[in-house]
Amino acid sequence: MIKVFIPDYFVPERSYIVRILLAHYCGAEIEIIPKANQEHYELIWDDKSIIIQDHFFSKIPKGESYLEAKYIPEKIIPTQSLGLDHILLLYGDEHLEITRDKIVCHVDMFGGAFFMLTRWEEAVIKVKDSHDRFAAASAALVKSGNILRPVVDEYTALLRYWLLTLGYPLKAEVAEYKVVPTCDVDTPYYWRNKPTWKILAKGFRRNPFRFRKALKESKSVSKGEAQDPYDKFEYLMNLAEKSGLRFQFNMIGGGKTKYERNYHIDDDHIKLLMHKMIARGHEVGVHPSYASFKDQAMIEKEKAAVSNSSGIQVTSSRQHYLRFDIPKTWRYLASAGIKTDSTLGYAAEPGFRCGTCKPFPVFDIYQREELQLTERPLLIMDVSFRFYKKYTIEQSIALSQKIIEQAKKHNGELVILWHNSSLSEIDGWNGWNEVLEYALH
Ligand SMILES: [Zn+2]
Repeated sequence: MIKVFIPDYFVPERSYIVRILLAHYCGAEIEIIPKANQEHYELIWDDKSIIIQDHFFSKIPKGESYLEAKYIPEKIIPTQSLGLDHILLLYGDEHLEITRDKIVCHVDMFGGAFFMLTRWEEAVIKVKDSHDRFAAASAALVKSGNILRPVVDEYTALLRYWLLTLGYPLKAEVAEYKVVPTCDVDTPYYWRNKPTWKILAKGFRRNPFRFRKALKESKSVSKGEAQDPYDKFEYLMNLAEKSGLRFQFNMIGGGKTKYERNYHIDDDHIKLLMHKMIARGHEVGVHPSYASFKDQAMIEKEKAAVSNSSGIQVTSSRQHYLRFDIPKTWRYLASAGIKTDSTLGYAAEPGFRCGTCKPFPVFDIYQREELQLTERPLLIMDVSFRFYKKYTIEQSIALSQKIIEQAKKHNGELVILWHNSSLSEIDGWNGWNEVLEYALH
């Protein structure tokens, strides 16, 4: 048992991050003890100790909030000193002392990890992108060129190493690298169940002179003579199953904007599709609609709709368009009974938005408490490559490889999002399945 003495202010925040790093990630048994006049985080067991200096919470004047732009790290740089393993410095300085029984580290790993995992910078920075999202370009980690560094996992690895070096009996890590393939079902079918005028409009948009062909195509799909260009579910399930994996298919359960009117969750053919997925051991999650990220009742309603229609109790989710409001969306999801969210990756930048590739219980910075919800950060998404970064297939594979390497190194999870529509030749996705297959391999 490690006794962890912490200063007696910002206690919920400090307790949370100490618990996540030492107990949740390292698997150490700890007792957290807030103490008056305690300056730093002090880990003590037997005659051993590790002191992690506090260079974040201690800098906030008494009675003030840390939720201000001026407390966001100005720069994030890799450390150079021997023994720090090049971890990124967010708060503190590079100093490190190692003796036989004691380690003193001036890099505030707890303050830095708290910054990354709670995503509090997203609540502080009010500038948003065209979908009212916190933009990758505003993030300190992205600005410093470190989006491909899982900062928190690197901290965890170093803490683990120090605990073992000082003889603390940590158990071997049980988590293993794992691929978590997911598919947000925004548009299950291209032609199917569309009124004729929509079919003609779609055909016209593709090629004004060939809308007769569109009508013909749609007819042969509805007669079952041809496959719908977006109907790639069989391919996705087969692909996952070949590697012993299962997809998480996130279904839209409501919403009234132009971004989600492609199907209704109670349609018979959608129910049939979900039953097939479930029967083959794949998971059905909810994909809360465009406007839901600021609306608790909407999230609850849509989660209930997907649960009712699929016949299973849905506990996983991802927000449509990755729209998220820290920390409110987490809170709404938790109160709707969602156990795992998987929204937090940037549309514009594949990589480690939360500084980790491992699932973690989330913290509500306003209510100052841990929620009954796990975030499973999204690392890779199809449209990020093709539309945001404007990469070729080869470049996308090369970037995926870098992310996969990190996830493997830290025994983390490679959460990948591939839309069924992003496998369709009709929208120019020819050959892009190579990227997905590379990641799932
Ligand atoms: Zn979506």
